Amino acid sequence: MFGEGPARARVLMIGEQPGHEEDLAGRPFVGPAGRILDRALAAAGIARGDVYVTNVVKHFKWEPRGKRRIHAKPSQTEIAACLPWLRAELDLVKPEAVVCLGATAAQALLGSAFRVTRQRGRWLSGPSASRVLATVHPSSLLRAPRRGIAEARVRRLRRGPRGGGRSAPLSLAPWRRLDGVYFEQPMPALTAERKSSLRRELLDLLGPGGVLSDPDELLVYESDGLTLLRALADFVVFPRTAEHVASVVRVANRERLPFVARGAGTGLSGGCLPAEGGIVISMMRMNRMLEVDYDNQIAVVEPGLVNLHLSWAVGPRGFYYAPDPSSQQACTIGGNIANNSGGPHTLKYGVTVNHVLGLEVVMPEDGRIVWLGGRTRDALGYDLTGLFVGSEGTFGIATKVVVRILRKPQAVKTVLAVFDTIEEASAAVSAIIARGLVPAAVEMIDQLTIQAVEDAFGCGYPRDAAAALLIEVDGLRAGIDGQAARIEAACRESGAREVRTAADEAERQLLWKGRKSAFGAYGRVSPAYMVMDGVIPRTKLPYVLGRVNDIVAAHGLRVGNVFHAGDGNLHPNILYDPRKAGEEARVVQAGAEIMKVCADVGGSISGEHGIGLEKADFMPFIFTAADLAFMLRVKTAFNPTDLCNPGKIFPTKKSCIEVGPMAYRPHAIEEQGLAQRF
Ligand SMILES: Cc1cc2nc3c(=O)[nH]c(=O)nc-3n(C[C@H](O)[C@H](O)[C@H](O)COP(=O)(O)OP(=O)(O)OC[C@H]3O[C@@H](n4cnc5c(N)ncnc54)[C@H](O)[C@@H]3O)c2cc1C
Repeated sequence: MFGEGPARARVLMIGEQPGHEEDLAGRPFVGPAGRILDRALAAAGIARGDVYVTNVVKHFKWEPRGKRRIHAKPSQTEIAACLPWLRAELDLVKPEAVVCLGATAAQALLGSAFRVTRQRGRWLSGPSASRVLATVHPSSLLRAPRRGIAEARVRRLRRGPRGGGRSAPLSLAPWRRLDGVYFEQPMPALTAERKSSLRRELLDLLGPGGVLSDPDELLVYESDGLTLLRALADFVVFPRTAEHVASVVRVANRERLPFVARGAGTGLSGGCLPAEGGIVISMMRMNRMLEVDYDNQIAVVEPGLVNLHLSWAVGPRGFYYAPDPSSQQACTIGGNIANNSGGPHTLKYGVTVNHVLGLEVVMPEDGRIVWLGGRTRDALGYDLTGLFVGSEGTFGIATKVVVRILRKPQAVKTVLAVFDTIEEASAAVSAIIARGLVPAAVEMIDQLTIQAVEDAFGCGYPRDAAAALLIEVDGLRAGIDGQAARIEAACRESGAREVRTAADEAERQLLWKGRKSAFGAYGRVSPAYMVMDGVIPRTKLPYVLGRVNDIVAAHGLRVGNVFHAGDGNLHPNILYDPRKAGEEARVVQAGAEIMKVCADVGGSISGEHGIGLEKADFMPFIFTAADLAFMLRVKTAFNPTDLCNPGKIFPTKKSCIEVGPMAYRPHAIEEQGLAQRF
């Protein structure tokens, strides 16, 4: 149990340790003491959301041999062991003032000589924090044996501390920006009246058809390609210009409403979901090609342009846009930028960041429109374009994009290699790369996927194969046959039972159709599936695929694999039936275990689909609290109010420091058997 999250707040309040109700709610101070605290804050005109509340002792104690957590006074050892975490919270929140609720918290920060009865209400400073104020713990009132005694305690409290010292008033108004730090504002509830007036205002800005607010219409936007996660917006808006986007962002800021950009909604990590409600800004009407400069091989496009439409537009002149996610018939350039998307051909050509030169962006804080990067490769200054690409919609909203377009290769050869074991197919991937070949793509498809694809499209993959590799080489006409021959040889030497090269463009397209439509083909064998996205060193393929199968089977589920084998980017697709009770929860658990395996073999938890909502709690598999805190500082520079796509990327379950059960790392205090966490 940690604090309420890494949000900035002007005041940080620390209690001692959480109780049973806090445990159930997953937040500190929600029990009876929390209700007293809420009433006190409300009486002082301070909204709870303006204050970061946390505990000084981060663990519960177990009742002996029992299941219930007990609320027992912590020992000095426990407090000392939890102090580094509290300090990390202080470092993240950077409060102007710290309020200790009770002697335990005060002594933790100010030293054991502190006496709450004598020094209550004075500004003090200690080794861990300056400007500390202590008061009694709200639960001390609850612990009074009778109502009369509690009331007497309250009266005494109102008279001020013993010793005659006057309480320093803790003024929280006016809220302001201080030293570049913004303080979280309370998020007002959207009443029906306010919603209808906001709707009118947004319609005035965007014109007829520019705003959806009817709950039935909003349902369409409640999830992306990962249908396990859902969140409903208050509004979905459809801007046509950067100025439209900027004006919506300004309204959102004024109203303290979160906002998030949405492309085609093909994302697979819940990235475009309005996790905290507010406004979804759909970019689908900003889908024009603004300029193509063939001589300099660049195009300027709007972010709602569908990826494949860009290649179609420049194709007749012999050009194409290289990043080719398998969703390219639908996904947008803006979504690709946010997720730094890859695709089968990014093995040779790189991912989205390698093909974006400049961006026009509406900044989250005030709707300012700025340019990052430019039209050439060597833009001066910090590489802010590179920073923005992959920021998953948390750094602002891209409204124009300068992309590189490439000349189509003179020649292309596509090889299909069929294997009886996954091990042989994996060995072939390494054998190809070891020969110094750089194929444009090396994709692997497993048996379950082959069968689904064959049922759906009949692409010519042998249904009984354990795995098939689809390998493509491209480049100059001279030498391309030699490359294909060397690939064929590498596959045969690794144990391929059949290797063939597509005889013509029609056969090549059919083979790629099988690969690119594989996700859709799972509909033949399962009502739903969840796509995982992990990266591993190529040499670990057989081991990790074996572990994936074991994990999924242990949860009573099935898995199909179709993935970018060349760059070790796995996509285990866990098949499930959402109508069966408990099945979704098992999918989530299996997914978490698979991600842990990827991290443990030296890989990563996302190759291209992003972290979004789905994997935020897995970030500590890869990053330390210090790493995350640093990333948060970068995000805060772009998005200081955190209204732009909040709730994504950073662990949010409890706090940035606490991590989900999968990322659990025992603390010294637990290793000593003094406390447990769950
Ligand atoms: C069948 C299928 C196959 C897929 N194959 C691949 C693949 O091979 N490779 C791959 O990388 N991904 C793949 N994906 C995932 C997905 O298609 C990509 O992540 C894609 O880039 C998302 O684009 P989108 O337009 O749908 O974005 P959305 O899902 O709408 O949004 C994704 C993120 O982009 C942000 N965003 C959208 N527009 C903007 C903007 N203008 N400015 C700032 N932020 C913005 C959103 O806030 C969100 O965080 C696949 C998905 C499916 C369903």
